[in-house]
Amino acid sequence: MKILIIDDDSSVRKFIATTLKKENYTVIEAENGQEGLQKIQEERDVAIIITDLIMPQKEGIETIMEVRKLNPSIKIMAISGGGKVGPESFLLLADAVGANATLKKPFSSQELLMSLRLME
Ligand SMILES: [Mg+2]
Repeated sequence: MKILIIDDDSSVRKFIATTLKKENYTVIEAENGQEGLQKIQEERDVAIIITDLIMPQKEGIETIMEVRKLNPSIKIMAISGGGKVGPESFLLLADAVGANATLKKPFSSQELLMSLRLME
């Protein structure tokens, strides 16, 4: 199963990618929503997207809405540590625009895999 990770923080991408590769998922990465949307169109068989919300170029909420227009069946998990106001409001918004799951940063690899399995 192919999973796309979108996050502007390379250490977060690396942590998620390492966790998922150990579980035999195929992982591709993007630094922001714009790059993420490009990858979805290039790679046709992305089943799940894990996306950060606060990013330069194109942030996560807008990205989720555009993915939903392109492909309603892709599963989306929103992840956020929030900004000054904390992650809850961002994650609620992500849920409202079509995310299938939300996860508050920081999270452990176990928490990530559990949310992923609940979503599949
Ligand atoms: Mg970010």
